[in-house]
Amino acid sequence: MVPALRYIRGACGPALGGFPGGFSSAGRPAPGRSWPLCQGGRPASTRSFDVVVIGGGIVGLASARALILRHPALSIGVLEKEKDLAIHQTGHNSGVIHSGIYYKPESLKAKLCVQGAALIYEYCKQKGISYKQCGKLIVAVEQEEIPRLQALYERGRQNGVQGLRLIQQEDIKKKEPYCRGLMAIDCPYTGIVDYRQVALSFAKDFQEAGGFVLTNFEVKDIELAKESPSRSKDGMKYPIVIRNTKGEEVQCQYVVTCAGLYSDRISELSGCNPDPRIVPFRGDYLILKPEKCYLVKGNIYPVPDSRFPFLGVHFTPRMDGSIWLGPNAVLAFKREGYRPFDFSARDIMDVIIKSGLIKLVFQNFSYGVNEMYKACFLSATVKHLQKFIPEITVSDILRGPAGVRAQALDRDGNLVEDFVFDGGVGDIGNRILHVRNAPSPAATSSLAISGMIADEVQQRFKL
Ligand SMILES: Cc1cc2nc3c(=O)[nH]c(=O)nc-3n(C[C@H](O)[C@H](O)[C@H](O)COP(=O)(O)OP(=O)(O)OC[C@H]3O[C@@H](n4cnc5c(N)ncnc54)[C@H](O)[C@@H]3O)c2cc1C
Repeated sequence: MVPALRYIRGACGPALGGFPGGFSSAGRPAPGRSWPLCQGGRPASTRSFDVVVIGGGIVGLASARALILRHPALSIGVLEKEKDLAIHQTGHNSGVIHSGIYYKPESLKAKLCVQGAALIYEYCKQKGISYKQCGKLIVAVEQEEIPRLQALYERGRQNGVQGLRLIQQEDIKKKEPYCRGLMAIDCPYTGIVDYRQVALSFAKDFQEAGGFVLTNFEVKDIELAKESPSRSKDGMKYPIVIRNTKGEEVQCQYVVTCAGLYSDRISELSGCNPDPRIVPFRGDYLILKPEKCYLVKGNIYPVPDSRFPFLGVHFTPRMDGSIWLGPNAVLAFKREGYRPFDFSARDIMDVIIKSGLIKLVFQNFSYGVNEMYKACFLSATVKHLQKFIPEITVSDILRGPAGVRAQALDRDGNLVEDFVFDGGVGDIGNRILHVRNAPSPAATSSLAISGMIADEVQQRFKL
């Protein structure tokens, strides 16, 4: 049963007033400029859509796919700012198919993750996409972690996660011969997959069903079309105008936004609620040298710190056979800033002035400093990893890639735990559905989220 959407009611301001210059060449590329790649079953000159999805990550592509499979007669377009699809969070993550153990019972995350994991396995089987159901151990290495581990086990059972077992030292060794621990949750349902490959497969399904993907289309304005004598009757059928940074436009009736690290900015652009704000948290990975990969068989996770939505630095096998260690969680100074010194004054000022970041920092100062310290000094991270696998040394690891999480933060400095979907009011707000907070496990949950979005779009927009 798909849970009801959770809304933060959009405080949509008055409808944005039209746009300068009227409505002359809506939906056409500027002279001499061709449209970015866009393939689908309709002629490439069509630039009016019934529904536009903003964001070509796994959530946007899954949603576009669900919508077109359910409504094959509608014209649906995906707008993506990059030249390639799925290169941000979807292309920079741990690749774990989560089982759903961590999340508060009855929350959207709990329901959609359990449901989504089953759907991802089924989808990969159907499409011949490689995955491994390699399982996971959540390991308590200190006595004081055991009550939290037991509570997590109960939570997992409440969430309906399949096959969970609490195991002791000797069984930990049977599963992970090099791992030490006092007690662990054995989670055989957890798996790994390449989420970018899954997302690109969603895009293929979408295009084969007649959908359009416009890349290199960075949305800069979302406005209400002004009536003007030059506008065709058909033009008024599509009252929303979406313009990109190059001045090109598409028109549509309804919009679904899945903009990840920019979800707050896109909501604000449409005149809807700017809150909750997105705070970018970078997660750096280390890579185990190939000759040491025998140390890890499946996923090994710590008992999470319940104050944060991050799962802690873990050992994760990848589909290519490598083992990644990470990710940590440090405040990034730029959205999509994958290197430690990437910096954007606007991004930093935004979170400082407009979000509850200062409160968050004060409340968790020592945690933040500790994470920064570990990010700078490899030996500190290795010390932490040795609690699980004592044989690992600094010389066994290399620095790896990083990802940036889009984590919503409210004005009181609370990290928003659950997925958040948000509509609005007013002429534009009534035609928009925003995905506002879709951090981990949104990749695992993507097919379940897309089903819920398709239900909501159908109901809300009376399709
Ligand atoms: C380090 C890390 C580890 C993770 N590990 C896991 C895991 O193991 N398992 C799991 O299930 N989840 C994991 N996640 C979470 C998961 O990756 C995300 O929840 C998921 O990818 C979100 O997908 P999305 O489509 O919402 O966002 P994204 O993939 O970020 O896509 C958003 C898209 O919107 C586009 N966009 C933004 N602004 C505009 C604009 N103005 N105009 C046009 N396009 C725009 C972006 O370019 C981007 O392509 C992890 C995330 C990170 C960062």
